[in-house]
Amino acid sequence: GQARHTASGHALYRGSPDREFSRRLSLMGELRHAIARNELLLYCQPKVDLESQRVCGAEALVRWQHPKHGMLSTGEFIKIAEHAGLITPLTQWVLEAAFRQSYAWVEAGMDLPMSVNLSAHDLRDPRLLDRIKGLFDTWGTAPELIQFELTESALMEEPVGALEILTRLKDLGVELLIDDFGTGYSSLTYLQKIPVDTLKIDQSFVANMLASDDSEIIVRSTIELGHNLGLKIVAEGVETQAVWERLVALGCDTAQGYLISRPIPAGEFPDWERHSCWHAQDPLRKA
Ligand code: C2E
Ligand code: MG
Ligand code: MG
Ligand code: MG
Repeated sequence: GQARHTASGHALYRGSPDREFSRRLSLMGELRHAIARNELLLYCQPKVDLESQRVCGAEALVRWQHPKHGMLSTGEFIKIAEHAGLITPLTQWVLEAAFRQSYAWVEAGMDLPMSVNLSAHDLRDPRLLDRIKGLFDTWGTAPELIQFELTESALMEEPVGALEILTRLKDLGVELLIDDFGTGYSSLTYLQKIPVDTLKIDQSFVANMLASDDSEIIVRSTIELGHNLGLKIVAEGVETQAVWERLVALGCDTAQGYLISRPIPAGEFPDWERHSCWHAQDPLRKA
């Protein structure tokens, strides 16, 4: 690969296309074994109710602790998993980890819902629903404790299959969220047709909402649209107090982002929650 040079003279191989390509190719091979080698980790990021300022849930985010490259960003290896046809085993790993963790949280006296991200590929998997049902049975998990997030663009890739699978998931009694809302061009008609409960406004709009009028308008009108359709609204990527306050003023329901916490190892979550200023009080907490 051709090295680029920064102003300070350091070579920047990461930007080189050949180098990046061969890195991806070898990661694809390694990802096949990562599950067996126990290199995947479940992290969770809290969601906080903007009104009560209490933790009201968490999102499961998978991490890959690579022996050589260290902790890998999910955004990158999810794409690799998609190209390598590895979404099904990856989703299965995340689902099993999420149900196991949710059970452990209840044991630890914390019954907060955990949302799991699904990919477009999962919407084409005819066995997904039975596997999810199987996990609810195995762990005796209450349907309120597991939720599913699907990106707006995944829904648009597979609108008919999505409607079918979301309807059957909804029959299990779980909450469904549309992720990265505002980036996927769904129509009002479609939104009214699918059984979703919550819209998550994409973090790009939230992060820019104080600097860009366009972003602010998108955030504000998504909150209005969602509320008019009877949906709850989560803002993702909340990094500053100023953004938090603007979201409160706009009537947004829930916030998620670095202002509250970065994603943390799922096993440490109850401890973090107990000691944080956002901690959920009774009657949510059992112990
Ligand atoms: P997402 O579901 O929209 O998750 C939010 C992403 O934004 C996470 O990145 C999270 O760490 C990051 N984030 C949270 N708060 C902030 C903030 O305040 N500022 C900034 N700059 N970023 C923030 P992550 O974990 O790298 O995940 C990236 C994407 O990969 C996720 O986007 C999701 O679409 C996908 N993903 C993650 N875990 C899974 C999984 O288990 N299964 C599937 N299918 N996809 C997953
Ligand atoms: Mg998500
Ligand atoms: Mg998102
Ligand atoms: Mg996102």
